[in-house]
Amino acid sequence: MTLKLSAALAVLFFAATTNAATPTTGYLPQTSPAWLADIPLPSGVIKSWPQTGAVPSGPLPTTAAALDLTTGYPATFQIVTDAATDPQIVAVMKTIDWTKVPNVAPTTETTMTTYSPSDPYCWWTYNGCVTPKVDYIPPDISNCPKEGTWGLTYDDGPMYYFPVTPENEKWAEPNLYNYLLAHNDQKANLMYYGSRIVGAPDAAQRGLNDGHTICVHTWSHPYMTRLTNAQVVAEFYYGLKMIKQVLGITPRCWRPPYGDVDDRVRSIAWQMGLRNIMWDLDTNDWQIPGDLVPGGTLPYSQANATVAGWLENRAKGNDTKVGHVVLEHELSNSTITLAEFWLPTIQKEFQTMPATACNDIAQPYWEESFVYPIQGTVAISMNGSTTNVQAPQISGSTPSGTSSGSGAVSAPTGASKTGGAGHAAVSKITVFGLVAAAVAYIL
Ligand SMILES: [Zn+2]
Repeated sequence: MTLKLSAALAVLFFAATTNAATPTTGYLPQTSPAWLADIPLPSGVIKSWPQTGAVPSGPLPTTAAALDLTTGYPATFQIVTDAATDPQIVAVMKTIDWTKVPNVAPTTETTMTTYSPSDPYCWWTYNGCVTPKVDYIPPDISNCPKEGTWGLTYDDGPMYYFPVTPENEKWAEPNLYNYLLAHNDQKANLMYYGSRIVGAPDAAQRGLNDGHTICVHTWSHPYMTRLTNAQVVAEFYYGLKMIKQVLGITPRCWRPPYGDVDDRVRSIAWQMGLRNIMWDLDTNDWQIPGDLVPGGTLPYSQANATVAGWLENRAKGNDTKVGHVVLEHELSNSTITLAEFWLPTIQKEFQTMPATACNDIAQPYWEESFVYPIQGTVAISMNGSTTNVQAPQISGSTPSGTSSGSGAVSAPTGASKTGGAGHAAVSKITVFGLVAAAVAYIL
């Protein structure tokens, strides 16, 4: 087959599969969002996965600078106050079956005394509920089914700082992406939100091109259950629109900021083509004080002890029921430091992969030309049914367990100003050494 013919067939395949409706078993049907059909596709990003040849590294792509990311969007980092009269949102709202959206008033705070203790709307913020009370939308993804697997997720990217200074630049992407590449070409879920992509579209393109799986984390990062229906639609719509314009893909996965979701928000998300990815282990890394994001209240030693405890639990054979989806952030110098410090040890103890991969989801976008490796042998769709896709399995061997070592290396006590240096030695020490180091800092 000639290259030209291959390319032509690839284009046909791409065009034929992006608008297909997905039949569901018992759940509301989902359709590829027609309201994103007119967004022009960007240059500089991959159009399919897997890719042959070297994965890009080093400088970020330069193509994103030409994109107009202002026209047709609301103000960044702000809830869309006029969503109910915004013509773009009104059009999307007409595609949603509102009889399948629970009629519940927006919440007003994280602990509402007026909320029924029976948790009628599966409000995660209230009690961690991940199984909807309605039967027409699927449960949230909240762990990895197979023990010994670790779903790697980084929220709030792409990571950048303003004002840009040489010091800040050390922590901005591609710092973490380069680190992942250098450590077994580790893949992760990157939970991008629209307002952050505006600040670093080149870094977002790098994230996709590296082979990470992108999910949408809304437009402005609000508590979603506090919004009106129109505002909820706007958060998904503008987040997805930005991702489509900058990356050329349409994610079928999302993560709620602060985990704040209930059946009203879930139903709107599902009908806009999205399934919710939560977590079962939380590093709380965003609360660590950072040099550039001040105000955190979680001591570094405590975050380290938490992660070390999980790893020790696994190493001792006390964590054999299920695998985990773990919440981390590409948000500050502190979160990047924690992520990079622990990754080599995590890779030793767990089979480490995106949360979508450990849940055997090979096609996380409506563009079905992207087929990512999965943990198991049978690929499943976002709605839980099996698919016919031949997805490769995650490569790499089963973790080898802990090695012996002195434990002489200390856990970081704060984000150093050296921009990610000093991580190489971590893989040589034991989990227990790190626990000891972390405990030492507590004491
Ligand atoms: Zn977030």
